Order: sequence, then structure tokens, then C-alpha cells
Amino acid sequence: MAEKNVYLFGDGEADGNAEQEELLGGKGANLAEMSSIGVPVPPGFTITTDICTKYVNEGREAAFKNIRDEVEEGIKHVEDIMGKEFGDEEDPLLVSVRSGAAVSMPGMMDTVLNLGLNDDTVEAMAETTGNPRFAWDSYRRFIQMFGDVVLGIEPEEDEIDPFEKAIQAQKDKKGVENDTDLDTEDLKELVERFKKVTKEYAGQTFPSDPWEQLWDSIAAVFGSWDNSRAIDYREMQGLPHDMGTAVNVQAMVYGNTGTDSATGVGFTRNAATGENVFNGEFLINAQGEDVVAGVRTPHKITKKGSKEWAEINNISEEKRKKEYASLEEKMPEAYQQLHKVQKKLEEHYADMQDVEFTIEQGRLWLLQTRTGKRTGAAMVKMAVDMLEEGLIDEKTAVKRITPEKLDELLHPVFDKQALQDADELTKGLGASPGAATGKIVFNADTAEEWNDKGEEVILARVETSPEDVAGMASANGVLTSRGGMTSHAAVVARGLGECCVAGAGEVEIDYKAKKMIVNDEELEQGDWISLNGNDGAVYKGKVKTVEPEISDNFETIMELAEKYSDMGVRTNADTPEDAERAIEFGATGIGLTRTEHMFFEGERIKAVREMILADDEEGRREAITKLLPMQREDFEGIFEAMDGYPVTVRLLDPPLHEFVPQDEESQKEMADELGVSFEEVQAKVESLEEQNPMLGHRGCRLGNTYPEITEMQARAILEAAMNCKEDGIDAVPEIMVPLIGMEQEFTMQKEVIDGVAEELFEERGEEIDYKVGTMIEIPRACLVADKVAEDAEFFSFGTNDLTQMTFGYSRDDVGKFLDIYKDKGLLDDDPFQVLDQTGVGQLVEMGTERGRQTNEDLKVGICGEHGGEPKSVKFCYRNGLNYVSCSPFRVPIARVATAQAAIEADEE
Ligand code: ADP
Ligand code: MG
Ligand code: MG
Repeated sequence: MAEKNVYLFGDGEADGNAEQEELLGGKGANLAEMSSIGVPVPPGFTITTDICTKYVNEGREAAFKNIRDEVEEGIKHVEDIMGKEFGDEEDPLLVSVRSGAAVSMPGMMDTVLNLGLNDDTVEAMAETTGNPRFAWDSYRRFIQMFGDVVLGIEPEEDEIDPFEKAIQAQKDKKGVENDTDLDTEDLKELVERFKKVTKEYAGQTFPSDPWEQLWDSIAAVFGSWDNSRAIDYREMQGLPHDMGTAVNVQAMVYGNTGTDSATGVGFTRNAATGENVFNGEFLINAQGEDVVAGVRTPHKITKKGSKEWAEINNISEEKRKKEYASLEEKMPEAYQQLHKVQKKLEEHYADMQDVEFTIEQGRLWLLQTRTGKRTGAAMVKMAVDMLEEGLIDEKTAVKRITPEKLDELLHPVFDKQALQDADELTKGLGASPGAATGKIVFNADTAEEWNDKGEEVILARVETSPEDVAGMASANGVLTSRGGMTSHAAVVARGLGECCVAGAGEVEIDYKAKKMIVNDEELEQGDWISLNGNDGAVYKGKVKTVEPEISDNFETIMELAEKYSDMGVRTNADTPEDAERAIEFGATGIGLTRTEHMFFEGERIKAVREMILADDEEGRREAITKLLPMQREDFEGIFEAMDGYPVTVRLLDPPLHEFVPQDEESQKEMADELGVSFEEVQAKVESLEEQNPMLGHRGCRLGNTYPEITEMQARAILEAAMNCKEDGIDAVPEIMVPLIGMEQEFTMQKEVIDGVAEELFEERGEEIDYKVGTMIEIPRACLVADKVAEDAEFFSFGTNDLTQMTFGYSRDDVGKFLDIYKDKGLLDDDPFQVLDQTGVGQLVEMGTERGRQTNEDLKVGICGEHGGEPKSVKFCYRNGLNYVSCSPFRVPIARVATAQAAIEADEE
């Protein structure tokens, strides 16, 4: 039997189902699924993504050769159900040709509506519908979309779209302002204008044969997989380029046949807050993208949402009912149907759905359903609510969390006091929550440029389009003057986890003058504004932000993560404050305390410099002795904060030149302060200079050349621990030697530490438990890990240095070529952010395995940046590490990632 490339759906049946997203794309798979479960969808068929791949690789001829018969059968299938014929001159069937990849790429690829119209069928349609204006309006929309999508007609730079120009010319001729004021005769003339545009810009006449239209459109949609917008989007989202898109050909239904027709989008729950209420927007007598495009202000689906919207916009209830009635009020029957369907879909998919619908003369049709994008807050609330409603189980609730998105919940909100004094300019819709402040810019490229220069920016636009996505991502927040909760700006910002205020109607933006005017207040590019994405407020100037409060739902997710995870999450913290915050987030220990930060404060740096300047051991000891009580105090604070939890303290790591000033003036100051000559200081600084400091005299190389430093630090740690014990605090010290490459480097340091301990315990007449272990961050250490583990009680992979040394990339210089490498596809991710599992990961695996060969009980952790990155955390889990350690704010992310890793492992 021949291979199946075309999957039919409609009339309560379907060849495909929701599981087949890879083959049929998300849209196609879910159209099939909806059809099978009895949700009304216009009949149609889906051409697989395999054909797209063939199209992209081998061209149109090769791709289409095998599907001609199947597509013809597909059309026949639609004709049978609809009782109309494609290209028929009496009652023509019209179709849409829609793109749809496995992963939703909103607005990135193309769709053609009303296909099948030509000079003859348009007349037939006018006749059968008794609505010639509608027929001609559909026709001109079709030519425009076909021109744009299939013939690639684009405005020249700085020009307006030639089709838009033609519409304007027609309106000018008639002397009217709105498209809706054009009558049938005007639209007929407009069609002629459009055909001329086609001829002029694409050098070809508009094809009138429906079959030619169909094949060309299918080809164009496949081709749109590789348009630059789609490619950029995939790059940004880290999506593969070889999935391809499916093509869906589907009978047209019309939301624009009159006042008993409508089109809209709905969410089964609130995508911004997670609240369990059906909501969305619609337009009466409109087609397709009108709702998202922001041409007219869409109405709310439900009465409740409408009232809230009217309040924000200062519209009286009377005016609202008249001009902005909800679907619930306007078309109660269709609304009831829609309400039932959305509930059915949510129960079927057991997740929040984002649906497209059209009502044609009172009859409801669903055109799309997909799992809705949501903010971090909504994600958490929905997972917990659905768990409580019994829609999902605990493990599913944990899996519903995208760990990175928890970050949003931990992001700042406006300081309440600062907010009281803030100067509110206007209000729009709180389309994506959070607080943002920055300098206004009015186009996406400027947002990107300024962001690259390190500026904080807010992107302000009348509305946004897919071209603006990269600029939106580089801004702290997005403000639009037009569009609703489902506008492009709102949807994209929520996906990015970025604050957005949409549809602030009082904002007048002048792109040319780079200005915006809000109620007589004039703001220029570069002026500061602040946005509140929760309630839609826009403030003048920079409003102070504060850390957010943690919700009960968040706590519930954290408890579930705790329940299902069997891996520790520690934090990297250098101060008691950091340590306390991390504990609040659920950290169960410190995986890395960097002691060098403690060397810079106040009087300490003076003692450190004395130590560096000293010519002999005696001089060094003298200076170091001054440091001892200060270090001890630091550790006491941390042990106190971490009462009962282990604290891993790393001995001094950076090269000494980092502690001395590099410019003459400060060197002179230093000389004065320490009572030595400037020349002496200068000579010392020069002597510390290294060609490659990161590979130089640092880490355990310092401790092994100047053991007195290690002695002091070990003593400070252990004395602090003993003092804490006396105060009833359970201090659990773990002393960590950095940067070893040979086992001897470790053992030599361990001897020093153990020597100090012995001496101290004798002095005090009591003992405490402590551990000595090492960072594994030099490739050689991984290779000899078995030998190192003979003496070491724990390993902690320092994957920052390990990545640096395995790749041979300097962390400080990698920025010069990293983006180019990513653009060229040489690297998928920045290996300093996402652990390179294939290369560096092998060293982690090997180090762990070899270490445990000689020391079964070896505790192994990771303390690089990767310890808070979900993919890397899961890798660590699979390789049997005992814990990950990350910055305090990433602790919740790591906790969920470890729980998910455990659940995934369990399910395998
Ligand atoms: P996108 O992926 O950009 O949303 P779609 O393929 O979903 O593109 O189509 C764009 C718009 O056209 C949507 O609003 C959709 O509901 C509408 N549409 C698509 N096909 C049809 C159809 N057969 N009948 C009516 N409206 C349609
Ligand atoms: Mg869609
Ligand atoms: Mg290091």
C-alpha cells in the first residue's frame, strides 16, 4: 500500500489524533482530535510534515508527485461533507490553507483564506449567499492574502503595502474613512486595483484556476517554514529547523456574513493569572485575524470580563452594553454552545486550552485548539487548581511546571511606597504581569541596540507584529496603544515572561518624531517610564521595585517537588543574607561559599595587601593573623543562618593580583596607607602580573605555596564552627580545596587542614566533625578522580572552570565569538549556561564514577552556573550526583527540575 501523506478529518471522524503532532503539526493533530470527539470543526485534510521536509530538501516537483491523488481525494471528502464543489460556478466550495508545525509558532508562518474564488465563483457566491458585498469582500481579501503569501508581494522599504495603498485610493475616491463604508461596487473596483497590484509587483496575473491557487498555496505554506521570520523565531526559542510544517486544507466558514456571525479567540482559564474562568475576545461580522490584528477593538466573550474592561477604560455601563456587548449578551445561544465546547476540551485535554472559533449565522465552529501559553503565576495556579479539582495527579502537576518560568514569580514588583508617589500617566490592560522600568524606545531594532549597550528599555508601539519579537525580548517591558489581551503583544509577552501593558488607548505614539503624548504629557525616546503588567498602569519616570511575595500555590508546588525529589538542592552563598533567602526557597545546604568576597570589605583589604606585600612567611603570618578574627566572624554568621545544614567553604581561589590596585593613583594610596614606598608597591604589582591569570598562580596553588593562608582559613572555619556549637548551633563545616589537577595537590592541602584541626581540638579539649573535599574543575582531576577520592570526602564539580578548560574558551572572551558560533550552528547553547553534556558532561560522569570506585560514600555535587539550569540539573540527576548548588533565586527552579528528573526516571 502506498504511504499515507494526507489525513482526513470532519463530520465526527478523523484519520489522525492528538498524539500525532510531529507528523500532522499541532493544528492538524488537534483538528483531527476535535473532530473525533464530536466538536464541530469544518471538514478538511492535513498534509504531513514529511512532505514539507521533502519540499524543503528536494523541491516542489518531488514533494508533490506522490500526493496529487491524495489531495484530490481530500477535496472530494470536503465536498461530500459540505455538499459543495470546489471551483463550481453555482455553489463553490472555498477552503483555507493553513500552516501548523509540531510546536506552535504563533504568526510566524502563513495562512491563506477564501481560496477558490475567481471572477466566476465570486458571482456564484454572491448569488447563493444573497450577499454580494460579502462575496466581493471575501474575494479582495483572498487576492491580498494570496499576493502576500504566495506571490511574496511586499512593500518597498518605508513604503506602505501596495494593497493597503489601493484600499486607501478606493476610500479616497469614495470619500470615506472605513473599509466597512465601501459597498459592493467599490469592492469590485478594488478587486481590479488588486489585480493590477499583482501584475505590477509580482509580474504575473492572478491565477483564476482554483486548483492552481490550491497547489501554489500549499507550496507557499511549505515554503514559509524557511522564511526568515520563522527561522529567527526558532533560533530564539531553541527549536530545531528540521521539523517542518504540516499544511491543513479546510472548508471555509464565515464570521463575516452579517451581524449573526462572529469570530474570536478564547482561553479556558485566565492565561495571565490562572483564574478558572473562561475568557476571550471576539468581533461581530469579522474574519480570521481581525481579532488579533488590532484593527477594531474586540469585545469580551463574557459579561464579567466586559465590565472589568469597561471600568479600566472609563466607559459607562450603558455605553458598554450598547457598543461593547459581550458574546454572552449578544449571542446567548452561541455563547452557551461555546461554553460547553470549551469545557469539554479542557476536560478532554486536562489542560488549559486556547481556542479559535467562528460563528456563522449562529452556528459555532472550532478552528483550532492548543494548550494555552501562560505566565509563570498562571502556570503555578493552574497546576495546583487542576490538582485540587482532580483533573490531574500530583506528578502531572509537577511536570506542568516549566522550571525556568518560576523565575517570573521571583521577579520584582513595584515598591508600595514608591508606587504611592508615582506619577500615573494612564492605564491600559495588564496583559502580562510583573513590573518593568526603562527608557522608552519606539521600534524593535532600537530596543535591541540599546539593550546591547546595556540600557534598560521599554518598547512602546501602537501594536506589535512578529517582526518585533526580538526587540520585545530585549526590552524589560512592552507598551502598546492598541489591541487587547489576545493581541500579538500580549500573547508574545506572556510567552516571554515579560511585563506588558496593552491597549493603552490614551497613548499617542508618533514614530517619526520619536515621541509619545499621553494626556498632554509629552515623552521622548530615552525618557524613563514604568509599567505594571498586573493592573495595566503606566507611570512616568523610574519607579522603585522590590522582591515579590511567595504565594501559597507556589509553596504547594515546592512541597510536591520536595515529595518527589530525592536529590539535594544547595545554594551558592557568600553572606548570611543570601543563605537565609536560599533557605526560604528550600535550599538544604550551601554548596559553595567563596571566601575571597570577604577579603574586600573595609579594613580587611588592608590586611590582605599587607600579606601580599610581605617578603617572607613571618611577615605574611603577621598580616594573616589580623584577618583571622574577621573571617571567623563571617563564618559564624553563615553557620548560624544554615543551622543544621552543611556549609561548603572554598579556600582562597583567585590570583593575588586581584587584590591590589592596578592604577598608579590607587597604588600611591595603598603605599601611604601601608607606610611603604610607591616603588615597592609598584614592583610587587608588577611581579604579580601573569599572562594567563586564570591558568596562573591561583586556587590550591596559592595554598600549596603559602600554606599559612590555608592554615588561617581552616582555623577560622573550624573555630567558627566550634563557637557556634557552644551557642547551640549545629554547624556542619565542609572545607573545599579549589583547582586541583593532581591528587598530591589535594593531599598536601588536606594535611595542612587536618594539622590545624588537630592543634585546635587539643587547645580546646574537644572535637567536632568536619569534612575535607575538593572542587573538580580541571580535566586532569577527572582523569585521576579515583586517586583523589582516596583522601577526599566529597567532590564538587566546578563546571564553570571545567567548561572553560575543556573547551579551551576563556570565559571572559567567549562573548567575542559565541553569538557567531550560535548563528553558524556550531553551538546550540552557551556552554557556560547549559552544560555541554556530550563533552564536559563525560568528564562529570567519569569523575563521579572513578571517584566512587575508590570511595563508595563519596558525596558528589555541582556548584557551577549549571546547577540552576534545568537541563543540566536533570543530567546531574541521571548521573547520580547527590546535590546541585545554585544561586538563591534559582533554588526553586532546581528543586522542580530535580523532582521532574526523579519522576521521569521513575516512569522509564
Ligand atoms: P495562525 O496559526 O497564524 O493562527 P491560522 O491557520 O490559525 O493561522 O489562521 C488564521 C486565522 O484564520 C485564524 O483566526 C483562523 O481561525 C482563521 N481561519 C483559518 N481557517 C479558516 C476557515 N477554514 N474558516 C474560517 N476561518 C479560518
Ligand atoms: Mg491560529
Ligand atoms: Mg573555579
